[in-house]
Amino acid sequence: MKELDWSNLSFGYIPTDYNVRINYRNGEWGELEVNSGEYVHLHMASTCLHYGQQVFEGMKAFRGKDGKVRIFRIDENAKRLQSSCEGILMKSLPIDRYEEAVIKAVQLNERFVPPYESGSSLYIRPLLIGTSPQVGVGAATEYTFLVFVTPVGPYFKEGFKATPYVILREFDRVAPKGTGRYKVGGNYAASLTAGEKAHSLGYSAVLYLDAKEKKYLDECGPANFFAIKGDKYITPKSESILPSITNNSLMTLAKEIGLTVEQRPVLEEELATFDEAGACGTAAAISPISRVDDIDNDTSYVFSKDGTPGPICTKLYNKLRAIQYGDEADKYGWITFVEKI
Ligand SMILES: *Cc1c(COP(=O)(O)O)cnc(C)c1O
Repeated sequence: MKELDWSNLSFGYIPTDYNVRINYRNGEWGELEVNSGEYVHLHMASTCLHYGQQVFEGMKAFRGKDGKVRIFRIDENAKRLQSSCEGILMKSLPIDRYEEAVIKAVQLNERFVPPYESGSSLYIRPLLIGTSPQVGVGAATEYTFLVFVTPVGPYFKEGFKATPYVILREFDRVAPKGTGRYKVGGNYAASLTAGEKAHSLGYSAVLYLDAKEKKYLDECGPANFFAIKGDKYITPKSESILPSITNNSLMTLAKEIGLTVEQRPVLEEELATFDEAGACGTAAAISPISRVDDIDNDTSYVFSKDGTPGPICTKLYNKLRAIQYGDEADKYGWITFVEKI
């Protein structure tokens, strides 16, 4: 293998050696299969192609200073995949099968886990799709679970920096009692037009309001929203927000550093009272927000004038990354070590 330029990887796709798959047929999950091909052979009438029976996960494996490979919160991702499956009537995968497959995929591609010094990591993408042929609308009877991995670079190549977000009232990502709380591809399809508009206007992403009243903060496309106000960590609560495992982890760390955590409906106007704000998710851990523009109301909520992230965001970011890379003790049992094979 040509040595990869570990510090300069993008968040793209680099082929690795293997992926692993488990099929659901005749009412049960089969054996784990190791595959070196990058394609999935699908029937053209598969439910995933027509009716969006597709759920996925996103996780990372990190190499520590000690050379050991660590996966972050594998059990929580396994449980969330189950919840997503139940949400759109797909066969859910037992937690131990999920963990077996993810660990195997990382082990088989160990040489693609970037070195500690690079600040890069191995992105893990598990997905589950309905594969049985049918044209009538309904849940599939056959499914495929697949895990592939790809090395990704440090999210903040030019350093940890705050960027602007925008409120666009003309778009909703999800409905109040819809699929927002599940990690399904359809939610992303529904957000692409809005995301593209945000980018073309110079913003990193959309900060969505609740679809019903357009009064409360929801989340930022593929990341949860949180804010710091004095000694409080505040994050919106709503049925249409995807429960981010990064956000959940940050809430724990916020308490550890002495903050009070409030998870509750958050009015848009409250943005004016926050000291810091950020978007959080596996890809970047934390993306600090410099300002939120409500362009329909000509209002701008500013958290950082020059793009410097706030002190609490920075502290939380460093703490989370330190746990992920093994520089700080794993007090909460978030880490799974991957043994070499
Ligand atoms: C995956 C995802 C997140 C972030 O979740 P993490 O578990 O922190 O990676 C946030 N919002 C949406 C809509 C997502 O799909």
